[in-house]
Amino acid sequence: LIDLNALVDEYLRLAYHGLRAKEKDFNAEFRFDADPAVGSVSVVPQEIGRVLLNLFNNAFYAVNQKKQQPNEPYQPQVIVTTKKLGDKVEIRVKDNGTGIPVGIRQKIFQPFFTTKPTGEGTGLGLSLSYDIITKGHGGKLNVESVEGEFTEMIIELPKD
Ligand code: ADP
Ligand code: MG
Repeated sequence: LIDLNALVDEYLRLAYHGLRAKEKDFNAEFRFDADPAVGSVSVVPQEIGRVLLNLFNNAFYAVNQKKQQPNEPYQPQVIVTTKKLGDKVEIRVKDNGTGIPVGIRQKIFQPFFTTKPTGEGTGLGLSLSYDIITKGHGGKLNVESVEGEFTEMIIELPKD
């Protein structure tokens, strides 16, 4: 059994500090709203950690990519929340970055699908994440997004 909030917190810091050290003008901020009722969950921590790291990296990448509009202040932000919902727990990763165009939303979970330049993405993150969450842990992975506004990745895991 793994303390899910502690795992999320650890990987969020890892992603944030890794990127801040690498990118020159990285000014994103993050917030973690943890529901203490989430407690311990039966997961493989290395696998869920891999999923989280990929979602966090995607989110920070998306806020870094967003084009600043002149005269419109923009604060890049990644908000992570956990919540216990009946016999399930939910992890939401929301960013106010580029969003995902409707036309490619069906493709993002396919292996090797990427919109990133060579060297910046393999396109394997979400397909691997999808398998880890669904086949590996009996959960769900969903996406909500509005192009130019936000992307929210929603992980649902059984809490038993
Ligand atoms: P990679 O990160 O290597 O490109 P992923 O499987 O993690 O591969 O993601 C596939 C594609 O889904 C990305 O290239 C991007 O087009 C899109 N995507 C994923 N997460 C986000 C996000 N938070 N905001 C915008 N686009 C995203
Ligand atoms: Mg990725």
